[in-house]
Amino acid sequence: NLSARLDSVFKKLKGHGKLTEKNIEEGLKEVRMALLEADVHYKVAKNFIASVKTRALGQEVMRSLTPGQQVVKIVNDELTALMGSQNESLNLSGPKPVSVMLVGLQGSGKTTTTGKLAVSLRKEGKKPYLVPADVYRPAAIEQLRTLGEQLDVPVYPSDGDMDPVEICRKARIAAQKAGCDTLLLDTAGRLHIDEALMDELVRIRDEVQPSEILLVADAMTGQDAVNIAESFDKALDIGGVVLSKMDGDARGGAALSIKSITGKPIKFIGVGEKLNQLEPFHPDRLASSILGMGDVLTLIEKAQSVIDEEKAVELEKKLRKSQFSLEDFRDQMVQIRKMGSLKDLLGMIPGMSKVKQFKNMEVDENELVRIEAIINSMTPKERTNHAIINGSRRKRIARGSGTRVQDVNRLLKNYTQVMKMIKKLNKGGMRGFGRGMLP
Ligand code: GDP
Ligand code: MG
Repeated sequence: NLSARLDSVFKKLKGHGKLTEKNIEEGLKEVRMALLEADVHYKVAKNFIASVKTRALGQEVMRSLTPGQQVVKIVNDELTALMGSQNESLNLSGPKPVSVMLVGLQGSGKTTTTGKLAVSLRKEGKKPYLVPADVYRPAAIEQLRTLGEQLDVPVYPSDGDMDPVEICRKARIAAQKAGCDTLLLDTAGRLHIDEALMDELVRIRDEVQPSEILLVADAMTGQDAVNIAESFDKALDIGGVVLSKMDGDARGGAALSIKSITGKPIKFIGVGEKLNQLEPFHPDRLASSILGMGDVLTLIEKAQSVIDEEKAVELEKKLRKSQFSLEDFRDQMVQIRKMGSLKDLLGMIPGMSKVKQFKNMEVDENELVRIEAIINSMTPKERTNHAIINGSRRKRIARGSGTRVQDVNRLLKNYTQVMKMIKKLNKGGMRGFGRGMLP
């Protein structure tokens, strides 16, 4: 685990406020190892380390983090900058019907991915149309036809004697007639990249003007996948990549390298042979799995949202005096929302997870957003003295926050429950409760 390794490297540094060049250097050796172990291209790793180093030099170590964690944070920030944090979806813009062209080497998973995309497009209410354009292997046309039958999605009746460009051109007209809006072009592959193949793909592209060109690359081939992506991108200017066979023991480094070298996003990953085993790719999740630092990242997020110690003390005082206003309640909710579930938070307060009232107070994401909106719609007076919130005020607050009166009622009920709890705990003594309640 990288973060553990980094922590031991940085042990010596404890107590110092700044990251020094020597310490960073040592820590980054570990990061580099982790990247290479994950099968990240060595050039990508090298550039990456250089940019982390620049950023880390002279940085203050956040009070709540160890230097090792701080480096992990910088590494993560840089990874996010490199990979992007959001999933990028298919580009389906343009005059209907639009075309998605799947390209890649033989055996990379094009035909399977074509079927998988048909399934997911249909789920989104689209009408896909399958086009077998691999005329060199008779079995290839048959394979897609079978998939189409299985899924009940129309397939263009290609035959091996036709020219692939011609197939794609005619298929567009046929798809339109069939009332379909999205063509999926399953093109031919070769075992290796060659001129003739690229020529053919370029001709298809120029003819159909696809709104999306997806390269399907086998994640199991590691570094090769990176070179393949580079070649296909040079020839075709691809729109994105599907990394297939991520269910194998692929270590994910290929994804990082592909994005870094081609600048093109990984849009989906294939996680099995079945047609529902295609997932949108989330770069942030890959980043943490490569570096094995999921836990640290959670911790860092928590640390980032830490309210100053002074504020914690202030809250503790308020709690002791049972002066926990609706405004404080909202601030807590905002903190909670930043951190994850209320249950998690409660789990962090010693002894608190056992308290029955809290257990029943499951609050979901939407609920938290609502709570925030409702309290924002209250006047300052209402926030400090909830007792004045009568029926007509409740109506006004509901209207102002775009919620229903029932929502306002429920919030006030929850709040009074918490207040009751606080009063009860105050009687029983609750050292450190306020501080524990903060992230
Ligand atoms: P094509 O030659 O590029 O059209 O490749 P195919 O779609 O025919 O796939 C080649 C092989 O890879 C088939 O046996 C597929 O079942 C398998 N395959 C494709 N995608 C995946 C995946 O995401 N995971 C696994 N485990 N196998 C896959
Ligand atoms: Mg195929």
